[in-house]
Amino acid sequence: MGSTKLTKEKSRKAAIYKGAECLNCGHPLKLTDKYCSNCSQLNSTKQLSINDFFNEFFSSLYTYDSRLRYTIKDLLFKPGVITRNYVAGQRLKYANPFRFYLSVSIIYFILLGLTSGDDTSIKVNGEPIDLTENVSEEITNPTIESNTYFNADSLNREIDSIIKTNTIAIKEKESKKEETTYLSEVELDTISWSTQTVKRIAMYREFYNETKIKNPDKALDSLKHNKNRWNTWLYSKNNTMDRVTENPGVFLNYMLGKIPFFLFFFAPFFAFFFWLLYSRKKYNYMEHLVFIFHIFSFSFLAAIIAYFPDLLLGDSNIVTAVVYLIIGPFYFYKALRNFYKQKRATTLFKFVIINLMFFIGSLIAATLFFTATAAVY
Ligand SMILES: [Zn+2]
Repeated sequence: MGSTKLTKEKSRKAAIYKGAECLNCGHPLKLTDKYCSNCSQLNSTKQLSINDFFNEFFSSLYTYDSRLRYTIKDLLFKPGVITRNYVAGQRLKYANPFRFYLSVSIIYFILLGLTSGDDTSIKVNGEPIDLTENVSEEITNPTIESNTYFNADSLNREIDSIIKTNTIAIKEKESKKEETTYLSEVELDTISWSTQTVKRIAMYREFYNETKIKNPDKALDSLKHNKNRWNTWLYSKNNTMDRVTENPGVFLNYMLGKIPFFLFFFAPFFAFFFWLLYSRKKYNYMEHLVFIFHIFSFSFLAAIIAYFPDLLLGDSNIVTAVVYLIIGPFYFYKALRNFYKQKRATTLFKFVIINLMFFIGSLIAATLFFTATAAVY
């Protein structure tokens, strides 16, 4: 009996420890106040003890943990309801939608990065070299035939010599045939910038196809063109085109990894569209934006969850496909209905309009996105 009385007296919440002033912020308190109404600290004057210290630590950890659990649970299983609750004022129950979106997309990035970093191609001057590259028939290089044991260094030397002989052969060809004319930098300067660029692209493509030179420096050298950043970049895109057409899957994966950023920048436009489409609802722009961040968060959370069974199943991405093609649209419809609370027919109609807008919008955006991605690929 004595011991229970002792523990009761030891609790920080005990009446004997209540003070007339908050120790944290100095706000005047009544002896009946459990917490400070100004800063929400517990009204207790008890001296710090090891137990209280760790209790406080674990309780704050638990609060954070429960916010995360509520957010994940409601986001996955209550489409639209989570946004409704958040907008209606349940802020402490959930994680901040914007921060949560950033967190899940970062986790998704890390996951993608963990598995798509196995590029084993041999590089010459920073440019990946295709070892199955065709050597034109007129050129026979005795060293490459006699040498059965390659190492990376000798291989690189072989490739360089092949490129050199190839370039010489091409130059000889050029002097014989006059149909392929490569304009010089001076000649290009006489035409307008746009036609010049078109000519340059066509020329570099032709030169690339004929010589198979992948290194922009070498190519520009033999063309006697300026090795400025623009020309180098333009020429290097020949190789990008080959890589994209040879292995579209890898490029697609690369593009997938950029989607979170892409969505992030387009979210304000999406929110604006929702604001127009649901102008008769009382939600403001910020609340539409929260809805969009919740939808985006769901897509990444679902992608993260689908990632693991797909990893076990191999390269098929079947679970991700099911999530995006079947669960995704259904979830989105339910979210619209639960958040905006409109009739089934109206919701379905708006669902179609939004998807149409997404489709047209993504065509425009994808063109921009594809160009931007290919530019740095
Ligand atoms: Zn206080």
